[in-house]
Amino acid sequence: MTLKEIHHTVKRPGRTQDHDSVEIPVAEELATVPGIVKKDNDVAWYSRNYPIVSQNIEKAADREWTWTVYTGEMYEYRKHHDEVNKPLVEAAYVSGNKQPTGDVTPAKDVTEEIREKARKLGFGEVGFTKYDRKYAYKSKKAWVKYEHAICLALEQDYWQTQTIPSMEAEFAHFGTYEEEGALALDLADFIRDLGYRAQIHSPNDNSAAYIPMFVEAGLGQLGANGQLLSPHFGNRSRLIIISTDAIVTYDEPVDYGIHKFCEMCQVCVNRCPGRALVKEKVFWRGVEKHKLMYDRCRPVMATYEGCGVCMLVCPVQRYGMAPVMDHFVETGEVLGKGTDNLEGYEIRGKGYYGPGKLPSFDREFFEIPHGTKDEWLFTQFKQKIEEKGKVSEDEKQEFVEKLGDILSEDSIFDAGL
Ligand code: SF4
Ligand code: SF4
Repeated sequence: MTLKEIHHTVKRPGRTQDHDSVEIPVAEELATVPGIVKKDNDVAWYSRNYPIVSQNIEKAADREWTWTVYTGEMYEYRKHHDEVNKPLVEAAYVSGNKQPTGDVTPAKDVTEEIREKARKLGFGEVGFTKYDRKYAYKSKKAWVKYEHAICLALEQDYWQTQTIPSMEAEFAHFGTYEEEGALALDLADFIRDLGYRAQIHSPNDNSAAYIPMFVEAGLGQLGANGQLLSPHFGNRSRLIIISTDAIVTYDEPVDYGIHKFCEMCQVCVNRCPGRALVKEKVFWRGVEKHKLMYDRCRPVMATYEGCGVCMLVCPVQRYGMAPVMDHFVETGEVLGKGTDNLEGYEIRGKGYYGPGKLPSFDREFFEIPHGTKDEWLFTQFKQKIEEKGKVSEDEKQEFVEKLGDILSEDSIFDAGL
């Protein structure tokens, strides 16, 4: 006997090739649309007139600042990760120029061959859709070569993730990127052996906002935390895309019931230490979504090992989508909501925060650099003039030199390497 009427059931392949497929019931009151609510004309208009600028560029000032608030251990680990990751990012950058190594079987659709190979390599979610240039970053539009996107999600370790926020969880976070970057090289080689071209879109030198394409490929829906909630591991995964000219068939977007579920759940919104997540959705660039307040999130993320509480406390991450939706259909409740098991976390130096309790930070904690590096330099220079009425010749010279350094920085890889 269930409490809720079921609108439809989504059937998905198992978490790995060794697991059985799963069935996810979507309650009548949770059903909305497959994928996400969006106004295509608005998405296209924004893309044409205000193409998305990569955070690596638009928010470069605070990205650089994060290094100044890392703990010693975090600083060393990030340096190590960037060294390990650099060759993977560089290999991805030039991957689209490589020629096929095999002969094409004429008119043969290779979707399932690629999907099977990707699953064998370990990708938990694999989907096919158009590489939608409307979501491509301004700096990367000319770089993108092929029209089809293979969307790939690699699961991040469960137990390490449950220690968020911690170094242990950061090992899982960055370690998964390293693993994923290497696996993508193997998959791209496989596609070339089939006779086609493949371009790797690194998760650390992104070519676009990737989540919209994952949603379009049916791999999940956008949660209130701004992350992709996929069936098996929710938001506990790292996303990468390979674009290709291979003959493939596109998957369809799916309604997993997440949009209405998030409106009711709100655990991430209530538990965010930075109070950076919002209850209500807005239309942003033509898409209806919960829009995170970046400036409230960034200082917490930078100071406390990537924070990630919004990943930790999501029941879909913690228990999986099928158990969460089963529980809702049976009881009308959000699995784990209000319990320490789901909602509790510890913040270094501040202590443990259970349901209903949040840490507080003073106003200065949220004062961080804003904008691009040159914008931030101008802001500081202007402040100096406003405060002192004038600046010395030495200060002018210093400003000019710093600006020169910023403008001459290598901008090929805007990954902050
Ligand atoms: S990373 Fe932390 S501060 Fe940022 S939105 Fe998530 S929970 Fe909030
Ligand atoms: S915690 Fe709840 S509201 Fe937030 S993304 Fe997960 S399901 Fe949605």
